[in-house]
Amino acid sequence: MDTTCITVDGNVGEGGGQLLRASLALSMALARPFRMVNIRARRPKPGLKRQHLTCLHAAQAICGAQVTGDAINSMAITFVPGLVRPGEYRFDIGSGGSCTMVLQAIVPPLLTASAPSRLTVTGGTHVPHAPPFEFLRDTLFPWLEKLGPRLSASMDRPGFMQVGGGSITVDIEPVSALKILEANECGAFIGADGHVRAYNLHEGVAERECAALQEVNFAALGLSAENVQVDTQTRSVEGPGNVVLVTVRRESGATVCTGIGQRDVKAESVARQAGNRAMGFLKAEVPVEKHLADQLLAPMALAGGGSFLTEKPSLHTRTCMELLPLFVNIKARAIQENAKVWSIILK
Ligand code: ATP
Repeated sequence: MDTTCITVDGNVGEGGGQLLRASLALSMALARPFRMVNIRARRPKPGLKRQHLTCLHAAQAICGAQVTGDAINSMAITFVPGLVRPGEYRFDIGSGGSCTMVLQAIVPPLLTASAPSRLTVTGGTHVPHAPPFEFLRDTLFPWLEKLGPRLSASMDRPGFMQVGGGSITVDIEPVSALKILEANECGAFIGADGHVRAYNLHEGVAERECAALQEVNFAALGLSAENVQVDTQTRSVEGPGNVVLVTVRRESGATVCTGIGQRDVKAESVARQAGNRAMGFLKAEVPVEKHLADQLLAPMALAGGGSFLTEKPSLHTRTCMELLPLFVNIKARAIQENAKVWSIILK
């Protein structure tokens, strides 16, 4: 086993928290120590924030790692992993930081652990620029199951920006080795459905969002009063919160597209954000949506390779493709197939 310390520069590509999360996942799974410098150097407020620090401490707890630099705003850390210990864990971000982002760092090494795990993370479940709970449950986890393990996720309550207080629990039944994923068929379009969550907000918000999802631009999605679920039950939600989710169902899988409500953003714009993303994905005629693409790369690298068709690779995807060869003997290539379709190949 190679135990030389890998150096990861956080000031490349996207230069955000994803480099840290993917490095933690790979380091734990492969028992390879790393140091990271310039953490989140390309973000307006660089260094470790609460979500990233929770990732680091969660990873440390799961594999008994030796860690230095684990403080708020820290720009450099070292991480020397021990053996991955499956089991039941609870982690609290202590803010509205994203629960699914914490899970991005710690789920991959548990996919091939020696026993099942249950993880509960408390914080934000629907946060801008992060996968919402439904994406984790309905998109990412079914795709990870194609690699062999069984995964399920439940949300005890939603949590939104600033306040947090949401909670997600996931169960992982591991396998001894991950399978190679080859996803090169788009699969027929089965249909789409919507979900509007609007808590502690003005009454009209949910109605306006439902109406916007039925605009003529989104006709191909076939959304109507019958297939858009509205959830305004505020009993367990702290503070205001709003998200619009459109799930595009293809034979190859379900893809959750999102618009997150924010102060000073009109209800119609939130719904159109989700609708436009769903239409973009539908028209591309690929199995793997662009956000899913970057999240599949580390688990696929742990499987030893694979390939999929996707939309134009995001900077997140390109950044992760550059990171992989530091940890594994794999080259990642992106080949443009036509105006809307790219192949990502890990070999
Ligand atoms: P930073 O540390 O840079 O402030 P961050 O830690 O919040 O940011 P990023 O490095 O920007 O994280 O990574 C964002 C991750 O969230 C990526 O994996 C991206 O694919 C995913 N993501 C963002 N928006 C969505 C979405 N709407 N649906 C699914 N996944 C998403």
